Amino acid sequence: MEKILVTKATLPEFDEFTNEIKDIWKSHWLTNMGVKHQALQKELKEYLEAENIELFTNGHMALEMALQALDLQGEVITTPFTFASTTHAIVRNGLTPVFCDINPDDFTIDVNKIESLITDKTCAIMPVHVYGNVCDVEAIEKIAQKYNLKVVYDACHTFGVKYKGVGTANFGDVSCFSFHATKVFNTIEGGAACFKDQVLGQKLYNLKNFGIHGPESVEAVGANAKLNEFCAAMGLCNLRHVDDEIEKRRKIYELYCQGLTGIPGIRFNKIKENVHSNYAYYPIVINPDEYGATRDDVIDKLAEHDIFVRKYFYPLTNEFDCYVGKGYVGDTPIAHRISQQVLTLPMYGDLDDVVVESICKIILEQ
Ligand SMILES: *Cc1c(COP(=O)(O)O)cnc(C)c1O
Repeated sequence: MEKILVTKATLPEFDEFTNEIKDIWKSHWLTNMGVKHQALQKELKEYLEAENIELFTNGHMALEMALQALDLQGEVITTPFTFASTTHAIVRNGLTPVFCDINPDDFTIDVNKIESLITDKTCAIMPVHVYGNVCDVEAIEKIAQKYNLKVVYDACHTFGVKYKGVGTANFGDVSCFSFHATKVFNTIEGGAACFKDQVLGQKLYNLKNFGIHGPESVEAVGANAKLNEFCAAMGLCNLRHVDDEIEKRRKIYELYCQGLTGIPGIRFNKIKENVHSNYAYYPIVINPDEYGATRDDVIDKLAEHDIFVRKYFYPLTNEFDCYVGKGYVGDTPIAHRISQQVLTLPMYGDLDDVVVESICKIILEQ
C-alpha cells in the first residue's frame, strides 16, 4: 500500500490550471489585485455568503490584520485547542491571550466559562470553529454585546460551513478563513477576512497593501499581505470543484462513522444539529482506560501500516515552549485531556474506501 498521509492537497486538472493562467502571460500582471484576484474575491464573497471580503496572502495574516484593524488593546479571550496561528496572532499584536477551556464534545470554546475570565482589560473574544464545528455563536454574541467586546472568529476550518443556513463568514466582527494547501479549499497559500463594517474593510485593505491608495497617496502604515495572481488562479480552479470535494468527504466521513461505531473508548466528532459541515477533518478521541491502548499506541500501529495520522491539536498553544512561563491566565484541563487523547485520521476527497475500511479495522483490532 502507498503511504497515506492525513491529507492530500486538492489540485485541478493540469490543463485547467494552465488555461486559467494563460492571460497572465499576456498581461504580465502577476500580483497587486489583478483580474484573478478580483474574480476570486467576487466568487468567494458569493460562495461564503459574506457581506464584505478581503483576500490575504494566507489565513494567518488575515487573523493578525483583523485584530490590528480593530485597534485593540488588552486581553483577548481565546482557546488553546487550535493551530499556533490563533494565539500567535493575538500575541504578535501586543495583546494578551486569556485561555478559556473547551467543550469536551465539539472542542469549541465553552461559553459558560467566558464571563468569569472577563476583566476591565478584556477587549475581544477570539473563538475557533475547531474542525469545522461551529461555536455557540449566539451565546458568544450575547456576551460580546453585554460587555462591549469585539469578536474575531478563527473560521479557518469552516470553508463552506453553514449554521442554521447562514455561512460562517457572517458571525462576529470578522471571520477569517485559510486557503492553505492542506485545507478543504486551497489557493496554495491564501486566506480571507469577512466582515460587515466597510470602515474596517478600508483598514484591512490598507494593512495588506502598505496603505497605498494611488500612485501618490499613502494613507496608512500598512504591511504587505496581498494574494498573488497565480494563487488566485488556483483558487478559481479549485472553487469549481469544491462542492464535489465536500461531497466525497461526506462519504468518507460516513464510512469512518460506520467502521468506528461501537468500539469501546473511541469517540468521534458528531456534527451538531443545524450545521451543514464541510467534513474538513476526522478527529477521534481515545480513552485509554476503556480502549486498552493510548492515542500514541494507535498512531504507532497505523504507522506500521504506512498510515500517518496527526496529533491535531497537540500540544495546546498554552503549552508551547514560547508561551510557557509567560504568566498567561486560564486553566484548560478539558483541552489538556483532549489534546492527550485526540488524533485526526486521513481525510480527503480522493481517499480510497478500502484504506478507510482498513484504518477502521486496525483501530478495531488494536
Ligand atoms: C490553517 C489555520 C490557520 C492559519 O492559516 P494559514 O493559511 O496556514 O496561515 C489558522 N487557524 C487555524 C485553526 C488553521 O487551521
